[in-house]
Amino acid sequence: MSSNRRRREPVPRPELRCVCGHELRRYWPYCPSCGRGQIWPDTGQVTGAECYHCGWVVSDAYWFCPWCGADIYEEGPSSEVPLKAPKGFRYHARCDWGCGGGLEYPMPHCPWCGRDQTWRDDHDFDGSCPHCGRGVNDWMIHCPWCGNDATGQDLMRPALRRVRRLLGTSRIKPWGYRVLLRPGVSGVDPRWPKIVEIEQRYVTDRRSRTEIDWSMLVGLIAHELGHSFLYHNWRWTRSERFRRAFGEVYKTYRGVDNTWVDFQRRRVATTLPDHVSTYAATHPQEDFAETFRFYVTRRGRMRELFAELGQKRKAVVVYEKFLTLHDYLRGRR
Ligand SMILES: [Zn+2]
Ligand SMILES: [Zn+2]
Ligand SMILES: [Zn+2]
Ligand SMILES: [Zn+2]
Ligand SMILES: [Zn+2]
Repeated sequence: MSSNRRRREPVPRPELRCVCGHELRRYWPYCPSCGRGQIWPDTGQVTGAECYHCGWVVSDAYWFCPWCGADIYEEGPSSEVPLKAPKGFRYHARCDWGCGGGLEYPMPHCPWCGRDQTWRDDHDFDGSCPHCGRGVNDWMIHCPWCGNDATGQDLMRPALRRVRRLLGTSRIKPWGYRVLLRPGVSGVDPRWPKIVEIEQRYVTDRRSRTEIDWSMLVGLIAHELGHSFLYHNWRWTRSERFRRAFGEVYKTYRGVDNTWVDFQRRRVATTLPDHVSTYAATHPQEDFAETFRFYVTRRGRMRELFAELGQKRKAVVVYEKFLTLHDYLRGRR
């Protein structure tokens, strides 16, 4: 037995499962359910070798551990030249650095030159982790690659806490929504009405000293929750009263928010008499989401809201929008 590798009795692992019982994919470093770090040993003694440093399965032919990057070269067993795929491993890609060796997905290091590798795996997953950028699914609690919070909720905690409190005081029961921090755009896909995506750039891509605009984020989340709430209660949109207040929500809709500046405004806009904000005028669905946002951020206090609508000389229909929502919420309780 060499000093750099250890051998042990095969551990039977017929199914790929974490000790918590959750299913895993081979070579995930973390369990997406409980966050436990995983070790992938030489199950069934296929290669007869494990890394002395991390305990993961390696090949005798390797120069470096493809999992932790440790130097495991040994004169004799190690191959003289980089190989595509030694016994026990599959060939999925060439080394990013052109050393001539091959790698199996998702090795983070080249087993031949030891250098870091990048894998593009977002197409296999619902989205990407706000911490490490690797693929994650919407249901995941932990990122299987870095072990951090896969939802990114840890990065927007102050805003989420505030939104939750606002929903509570507005007496809106949670409908199972799940807020995820993701790259791209903020929005809700009607096919997955409970998944609310918030553009991560507002939280993560800041210049060092710029503070996160938490009240903008609270507004943005409340707005997107409005979309989620509406998709979740879609039948309501067919009612006479809803249509009178908000119009035809079935109208062609891109489903993408391209403005967000509006969300910083906590005051009702004066420009358009029929809508609560300028953005609300872009589509009946936006109209609802904006009405929902104002309703929630004002804690459902109708008297206060109506006083402001009066000051801003809003049309009767705007009052009706709030009343329609208010009465519907009361009916759900
Ligand atoms: Zn687990
Ligand atoms: Zn290792
Ligand atoms: Zn390499
Ligand atoms: Zn991650
Ligand atoms: Zn919207």
